[in-house]
Formats: sequence, structure tokens, C-alpha cells
Amino acid sequence: MMSNDPGGVIPGPSSSRSTSASNSVSVQQQQPAQLSRYESQKRRDWNTFGQYLRNQRPPVALPQCNYSHVLDFMRYLDQFGKTKVHIQGCVFFGQPEPAGPCTCPLRQAWGSLDALVGRLRAAYEENGGTPETNPFANGAIRVYLREVRDAQAKARGIPYKKKKKRRRPNSEQGMTSSSSFHQMQ
Ligand SMILES: [Zn+2]
Repeated sequence: MMSNDPGGVIPGPSSSRSTSASNSVSVQQQQPAQLSRYESQKRRDWNTFGQYLRNQRPPVALPQCNYSHVLDFMRYLDQFGKTKVHIQGCVFFGQPEPAGPCTCPLRQAWGSLDALVGRLRAAYEENGGTPETNPFANGAIRVYLREVRDAQAKARGIPYKKKKKRRRPNSEQGMTSSSSFHQMQ
């Protein structure tokens, strides 16, 4: 389910807004092995994360990387988000289809972040990290994703589970059994 997120969180080479994109993208076509969409997305995410760590002051070496860097990274990615998340106080708060424009910020949709974390979690271990130290597997990440999911569901007035039409009047903690990413650990 999380393997085929088409979008990806980070703007690809086509939207060349970030000038820091490495020049390795130009040789993409000549790679001998053709990577699947998931694999190439994972590789791109991993490179972006590595670049993010190197850009910290002071730079963070991978062995020093912990879950708080991952949380900061996800917040950093919000600036590339395309999902309008209404703030409380906006007249469109809670409306799935806003009737007009507003100044609320664009964010990363929680589903994109969830998929991203899954890819990076795998990439971390493929690049020599151990499962025990994997910062992407940290419980704090799951808590953060859950908070983002719930906040976005409220702000946009849509249930995060689109299939089931099940309304719960007070659904603070009621999603434990129905959440799939929850059960991965
Ligand atoms: Zn708004």
C-alpha cells in the first residue's frame, strides 16, 4: 500500500526550483539497471535526506542521526507541500471543498509523509544502518504522523479513511485497530 506513492514529497528534477539539486540527475537516463519507481523514489529521498543532514550546522553524520532530525526534516519538507491545511479560524476550516481561496499554508499530506518515512526507513538499513538505531522506526515518528493525520483530517473535513464511511462523534483514540501503518511495528 505504501509502495506506490506516485507523487513523492520532494520536487523532482522537473521542477527545478531548488538550485541545490545535484548534477547527477542528468545521467539518470544512462543508468544500466532500470530502477522501479519505488526504488528510484527511495534513492532520491535518501539523497535528499543525506543532503539535509549535511546542510545542518554543524552537519549531522548519519550515525548521529536520531528521530529528532527526522522530525525536523519532515517539518522542513512542509515548504514543498501541496496540500492546503486550513488553520483554526479560517472560514473553510473543516470543509473538504473550500469555496474560495484563503491564505492558509500548504503542507505535506500525511500520507506522503507516511510513505516517505517507509521508504527512508528501508533505505537507512540498506545503507548500513541497524534496525535498532533506525530513527525512522522510532515511536516518536509514528506519534508525529498520527498527529499530522488527525489534524489534517479535522482541518479539511475529510476522514483519513476514505473507504469506510464511519463517523465517530468523539474519535480521539478510536483508530487504533483500523490504522494499517500503526501495525507495522
Ligand atoms: Zn484556509
